[in-house]
Amino acid sequence: MNLDSGMRAAGVTVLAREPVLRLDAVGKRFGALVVLDDINLTLRAGEVVSLIGPGGSGRSTLLRCIDQLEPPTSGRVRVGGLSIEAGHPPTRAELSDLRRMVGMVFRSPGLFPHLTVLRNVSLALERVLGRGRVEAEARGLALLERVGLAGRAHHTPSRCSDGEQQRIAIARALAIEPRLMLFDEPTAALDPEPGREVLALMRSLADDGMTMLVATHELQFAETVSDRVVVMAEGRVVEQGASRQVIHDPRSDRARRFLDAVL
Ligand code: ADP
Ligand code: MG
Repeated sequence: MNLDSGMRAAGVTVLAREPVLRLDAVGKRFGALVVLDDINLTLRAGEVVSLIGPGGSGRSTLLRCIDQLEPPTSGRVRVGGLSIEAGHPPTRAELSDLRRMVGMVFRSPGLFPHLTVLRNVSLALERVLGRGRVEAEARGLALLERVGLAGRAHHTPSRCSDGEQQRIAIARALAIEPRLMLFDEPTAALDPEPGREVLALMRSLADDGMTMLVATHELQFAETVSDRVVVMAEGRVVEQGASRQVIHDPRSDRARRFLDAVL
């Protein structure tokens, strides 16, 4: 099925109410180790959800299962109109549809050191969307402007600060015009000051209406930017709800224990 024409035919109002992401009973095991157990989660267009929880609770694995970098071992992942069922590996066409809809940003920016900042961003447009070089670079420059780094276009990443490199990684992820952005602790490797730069950029993406699922330990970001907070522990969702309520008045003992330890 041609996803985009299907979505357009469905009309804008329907699109706004359609979940961008829906996880039904998603599970992941590595051998006998259960890392994710019965994860259910829905994000609608424009929603921002923070995933918090102790180290090893399964947040990175969950993000990787959405993107199919790790295949889930049970359940179903739906992104836009695409549905991927555990045990039925996606076709190449489905994987490529998925990769066009989901942008991912990791703890480490992972830029190509030998390419300019602009090429780091524009290459995604050529490789994933098949744009020509001139068009890809014009769009890449606009994206660098969006993240406040047009002046860095012709530098190599090593000349950029850590915070700038992470903002370039965000520009690269935005290049494909994803419907959903996944962030895995994007500020965890940064000092406070560059961390704030990156969080400010993420806040402005949220203000622009980007749908975002963010694994983070930045509780202030979780509280003030996200619509909802999901608390994970031992591979399960132990609490989810409105950000302020979950952070300041969690109802489950497990979430309370985690928050007492970090607040
Ligand atoms: P978090 O991001 O919340 O810290 P992770 O998703 O990284 O948690 O890890 C959850 C659990 O899954 C941990 O116990 C980790 O050791 C385990 N795990 C993650 N990846 C693998 C893997 N490739 N093989 C085996 N175990 C893994
Ligand atoms: Mg992690």
